[in-house]
Amino acid sequence: MEKIIEFFFPPRCAFCGRLGKSPCDNCKKNIKFISGNTCQKCGIPIGDTTLLFCPSCLRENFAFERVFPVFYYEGVVRRGVHLFKYRGFYQNAITFSRLMAKKIIEAGINADIITFVPTSYERFLQRGFNHSSLLAKNIGKILKIPTVDLLARVGFTKPFYNLSRQERQKEIKGKIELKKGYENIIKDKRVILVDDIFTTGATANECSKVLLKNGAKCVFVSVLAITKLTR
Ligand SMILES: [Zn+2]
Ligand SMILES: [Zn+2]
Repeated sequence: MEKIIEFFFPPRCAFCGRLGKSPCDNCKKNIKFISGNTCQKCGIPIGDTTLLFCPSCLRENFAFERVFPVFYYEGVVRRGVHLFKYRGFYQNAITFSRLMAKKIIEAGINADIITFVPTSYERFLQRGFNHSSLLAKNIGKILKIPTVDLLARVGFTKPFYNLSRQERQKEIKGKIELKKGYENIIKDKRVILVDDIFTTGATANECSKVLLKNGAKCVFVSVLAITKLTR
């Protein structure tokens, strides 16, 4: 896929869209990677503390093991994601997935299968494809782990933009299913679930619950960016 993308799309900076290397020198200066002491659940920096979790994760009961975010969803990262999701800059998947895979490798995570958060049929029709699947397939190639399309949306879900944490949890509950016939494939497997942005974690949590309920051993969540707000 990478070869095809590189053939059709000239190299551009994944953060500002300028032709040339990715990230370009200008964006490189403004990119802040998440590092240091991080929450053992959602992966955000928690500074100098003896606590293992951020305040938000202390009150949550997420089903997944841990999130591995590369960036905060802000500044040049936000712009790059916007280009990727809404402006047709598919080649951004190459830069983004490399960074996401690097994060998984650095954390020493061993997994058996990679999958991704399913997009709703309506949004799939609007945008033409699932961005998370593109990231997942590329990460799978880098990590040499099979990427399998395991999950499906059922019914209609309202867009999440203006919903609170509780509203999102309620809205997504029961709307994710394991595709038929995949129980044997995930049984006792360590799964990496890929999504682009982690906001409240409602969707990633629901997907994880479905995977675990159907026999997966554990779920790790790989995301490009995590929001600072609303959690
Ligand atoms: Zn740039
Ligand atoms: Zn946390």
